[in-house]
Amino acid sequence: MNHPNAHYRGRFAPSPTGPLHFGSLVAALASYLDAHANHGEWHVRMEDLDPPRCEAGAADAILQILDSYGFEWDGPVLYQSQRGTHYKQALQTLDELGLTYPCDCTRKEIHARCAMGEYGPIYDGHCRQHAACADTTSLRLKVKGDIAFEDGLQGLYQQNLSRDIGDFHLRRRDGLFAYHLGVVVDDAEQGFTHIVRGYDLLDSTPRQIYLQHCLGFAVHQYSHLPLVLKNNGQKFSKQNRSPALRAEDAVDNVWLALQFLGQSPAPELRKATLKTLWEWATDNWQLSKVPRVWGTQLDEAQ
Ligand code: GLU
Ligand code: ZN
Repeated sequence: MNHPNAHYRGRFAPSPTGPLHFGSLVAALASYLDAHANHGEWHVRMEDLDPPRCEAGAADAILQILDSYGFEWDGPVLYQSQRGTHYKQALQTLDELGLTYPCDCTRKEIHARCAMGEYGPIYDGHCRQHAACADTTSLRLKVKGDIAFEDGLQGLYQQNLSRDIGDFHLRRRDGLFAYHLGVVVDDAEQGFTHIVRGYDLLDSTPRQIYLQHCLGFAVHQYSHLPLVLKNNGQKFSKQNRSPALRAEDAVDNVWLALQFLGQSPAPELRKATLKTLWEWATDNWQLSKVPRVWGTQLDEAQ
């Protein structure tokens, strides 16, 4: 895929592990409005790389809800489950560069041996010297150095990969491709310029930028939205049993999401048609109005 006239291309990349909830609506809406305000394209990619975590019918249900909420996406939806050959190719490139190695450490061994960092156990490079082990399918990427980037909302963000993270998985023990590999390969091959997504992925971004450097890909402009917290302080997610969005609440939920995103829609828009609300939202979208705080409570959303 080649995009010679590079202009704004954005995306929403849900994991079909359950129905869409309010937290994902916020990410979908912000990425959509930022793309449209910049006369760009907006694509949907299903991150169904991890079959055991995916729920039957969830991908279709997500697309249906997006459609009933008034989202229109450009081009066909890309399914990561069909992109194996592309991920394999990237692994081969990294292998040729001498940047990967097989690792057969179990989770238990890692927890016993490695220091616990802010983002989980910091892998100690134990298997870096090991020759390929026949029964392992797990691969790690050798990391080094500092990665810093200017987030469109959160400002300068920096990590030292060896100190803070350690060599991370590109392919897991069960043979599945890791999230970071899929996301980096697809974001590059789909030609995205801007990534607008939830705060929970901010600390993954240096790993993704490092992988982009290794593979010779361009680095995107990232903006990480604040997390939506429920009034009990928990984040909206499937794990927290956040309710599925209902088609009949489209206007109300889009209005609430705009409010959460700091766009201050007028109260009467909450009773407007979905079309009027969308027109207002696209005409008035300003990324700079989105609050930067890591989590914002929204009492009304359910
Ligand atoms: N699939 C990820 C999620 O639903 C989002 C990935 C991304 O936006 O980079 O949390
Ligand atoms: Zn190991």
